[in-house]
Amino acid sequence: MKNVLGQILPAGQRCEDLGVCFFSAEAVAALGTAFDSGRIPLTKVITLIRKDYSQKLIETRIGTPLKDIFTKYGLSVNEKDRVIFGGPMRGLAVYSLEQPVQPDTDAIMILDQSQAAYASNYPCVNCGDCVRTCPANIQVNLLVRFLEAGQYEEGADYYDLLSCIDCGLCSYVCISKIPIFQYIKLAKYELERANTAEAANG
Ligand code: SF4
Ligand code: SF4
Repeated sequence: MKNVLGQILPAGQRCEDLGVCFFSAEAVAALGTAFDSGRIPLTKVITLIRKDYSQKLIETRIGTPLKDIFTKYGLSVNEKDRVIFGGPMRGLAVYSLEQPVQPDTDAIMILDQSQAAYASNYPCVNCGDCVRTCPANIQVNLLVRFLEAGQYEEGADYYDLLSCIDCGLCSYVCISKIPIFQYIKLAKYELERANTAEAANG
């Protein structure tokens, strides 16, 4: 947005708040098809990432359950493997193979149980990797201390929570396996909820 439009997004705002919306190339093509044909596209192109990290582009109907896709492509999922909608950093684990493909599903990843990162209660060792990797220059190691304590407003006021762009890199590199990204998502959700309630109550 900065490079193309010369605009910098202020902390706590979304691109949409400034009248800018980003679309994937696939969404633009789907819109074009919808205008041309008068019909909404019912299929989706998805990157299927296998356990060996090899990838395959597939086209499937929106609403297809995961189990049908895995059966079709001969993929097996064992009990503790992870199935993730999205990539390894920002993706969300899904817990049922009945889960259908959504209109915004771009990738489906099967992660072998030996590769799955489990969150831990191990404390921060101040290695600094999260700070070095953060593209928004946030002092993540300090921010996460507030978020672990449920002090979301302090995290936003003193440690720039709302400048976070949700890339997930901090969690990915954290040697202590602290679920930083989950804390961040929860904090933003709770702050949004509090703001909405405040606005509703005048
Ligand atoms: S998720 Fe947020 S805090 Fe973590 S590295 Fe990305 S921008 Fe920084
Ligand atoms: S990467 Fe994890 S252990 Fe290292 S400073 Fe950040 S929060 Fe602490």
